[in-house]
Amino acid sequence: MLLASLISSFGFTVGIAATDPGYNCRPGQKCWPSWQEWQQLNNTVNGHLYSTIPMAAPCYENSTSYNAGVCNVVESNYNDSISRGAYLGQTYWLNWETCGTSGCSLESANPEETLYSTCSLGRLASYYVDIRNASHISATLQFTQAHNIRISVKNTGHDFFGRSTVPNSLAIWTHNLDTLDFHQNFTASNCPSANGQNVGEIGAGVVAGDAYRFFNSHGMDITGGYEESVGIAGGFGQGGGVGSYTTTYGLMVDNAVEFEVVTADGQVRIINECNDAELFWAMRGGGGGTYAVLTKYRVQVYPSLPIHAYNFDANFTGVNATQTLREIMTAHANSQIEWSAQLVTGQIEYFPGKVSVGMNLPYGDDGSKLKSATAAFDHFLRNRTDLGVTQAGYTSYATYTDFLAVTAADARKTEPAGIFSQLASRLIPREVFTTPQTVEALVDGVVEGILKARSLINLTGTQVVLETPVTNLDSNNMTSALPAWRNALWHVIHVGEWEKPLAPEVLENATSGFLQLLDPLKALSPGGGAYFNEAHYGEPSWEETFFGANYDRLLEIKNKYDPTHIFDCFKCVGWRGEQE
Ligand SMILES: Cc1cc2nc3c(=O)[nH]c(=O)nc-3n(C[C@H](O)[C@H](O)[C@H](O)COP(=O)(O)OP(=O)(O)OC[C@H]3O[C@@H](n4cnc5c(N)ncnc54)[C@H](O)[C@@H]3O)c2cc1C
Repeated sequence: MLLASLISSFGFTVGIAATDPGYNCRPGQKCWPSWQEWQQLNNTVNGHLYSTIPMAAPCYENSTSYNAGVCNVVESNYNDSISRGAYLGQTYWLNWETCGTSGCSLESANPEETLYSTCSLGRLASYYVDIRNASHISATLQFTQAHNIRISVKNTGHDFFGRSTVPNSLAIWTHNLDTLDFHQNFTASNCPSANGQNVGEIGAGVVAGDAYRFFNSHGMDITGGYEESVGIAGGFGQGGGVGSYTTTYGLMVDNAVEFEVVTADGQVRIINECNDAELFWAMRGGGGGTYAVLTKYRVQVYPSLPIHAYNFDANFTGVNATQTLREIMTAHANSQIEWSAQLVTGQIEYFPGKVSVGMNLPYGDDGSKLKSATAAFDHFLRNRTDLGVTQAGYTSYATYTDFLAVTAADARKTEPAGIFSQLASRLIPREVFTTPQTVEALVDGVVEGILKARSLINLTGTQVVLETPVTNLDSNNMTSALPAWRNALWHVIHVGEWEKPLAPEVLENATSGFLQLLDPLKALSPGGGAYFNEAHYGEPSWEETFFGANYDRLLEIKNKYDPTHIFDCFKCVGWRGEQE
């Protein structure tokens, strides 16, 4: 009790080891804490320590957690991204809650079926602390250092590399730090240059949908992402953060004003451009889970704008289908420089026999600007005789929250929670769009990728995302986001999804095949890169690809604030190659 009150009154400074102890104590080993020691930690964190139970355990009849009534609830929530994120014992993509052939998942299309014969923890953490205040984080860090246990830091579990779940770890679960606040006049901590107007404050666990609705009620928009269940202060807000406002206001990290964090030494710090400025810089783009645990994110928000949408969906079949795909993508590429100049955003999704255009512009008019920017492309599409059009037209939404219902419904179709997935992505620089030869090579490379992806996995699609920070060149290096963002016009993402575990050799073939889809795009963008949050997990030169010229400085800062590597995560700055 005394320990707990000291922690909450003053913040706790952990006597941090000077060298890396390895953080490799595993359950069952002598070093693993006794029941009494876990109990002490539980007391210190006010009863918020839990052992992990996989979300689907109540549906496994041979599990000690079997419970038919609870199972019904789990089944009905299984694919719902918001409900799913409220369980620690899951990841959005099943790849990361399973380990080889063991796990505890359900079949997404048919959740009354289990995917494994018995329920096991898979890659999920052994224990977790459901964090309710910063002192719980300090206490957890102290405990794991004392017992040499690996930690993991988790919010929603959406990470495409499973970085937020580490087997045999004690998880710091920040999802329930979900407060929101709005400061019309904001005073930064000891930093007059960071004072300003219209600053939003979001707890580490806030998801995008709640943030959009909250700030909208104050007449404001926040630079969140496309899907409503992504945690915007965690991996999103520390690794970049792109969405419908990126062309207009920059990345989420461009808009960061101040963070409250707990560093490896257990200290609670308010960091901004004046205090611990280098740590603030590193956490503005250098990736989540790497330098400290964030508890609060203060961010510039903007007076609310209407958002306008242009949609065009069509199917095409027959021997000329690939040529159709090529021609539509070429028209898209040839329009891109102008669309970016007009700050048009959104994405076009390409499939072997289908195109789905979803372009947007947040702008204070009646939609005329978007219509005029896209008129020639719309005319080109409507006049084609080889398309079976299923949807076409313009819609305006008074606020982003109105638009959110549309994006959420779309995401439920295209990226449902509770399935397996992999990505392969590349940022395509502006120069590629300036000559017919490079446009042709780009289109060839992407089309080739679309066709090859389908030969590797049944369910595939390629998103060409137009959400690049064209208004913000970050010429003063205020953020540590991958520099390739600043010159990119396309973010090409090949997506593969599947519902049941693949045989190891099939998975290996698909994984290496997906990486190869990027070869033509890499040839067109030497020295470019890929978005750390939405990339292929097998990227070989990941330091350069995800962090570019910022890597060395980020590593120095990492080593200064986290000298024993308690916050290491897969292909994050400072990762030393451990395979979990
Ligand atoms: C359906 C879907 C849609 C997406 N759409 C977009 C999009 O529109 N734009 C975009 O930019 N990205 C998008 N992403 C990618 C998204 O940015 C990443 O998955 C991101 O890592 C999610 O962050 P999280 O905190 O919710 O997830 P988690 O998996 O919980 O965490 C991700 C990483 O952040 C770390 N982390 C989490 N909380 C904290 C904390 N409090 N302090 C320090 N580190 C922390 C974790 O350790 C981990 O390394 C999407 C992902 C999905 C699954």
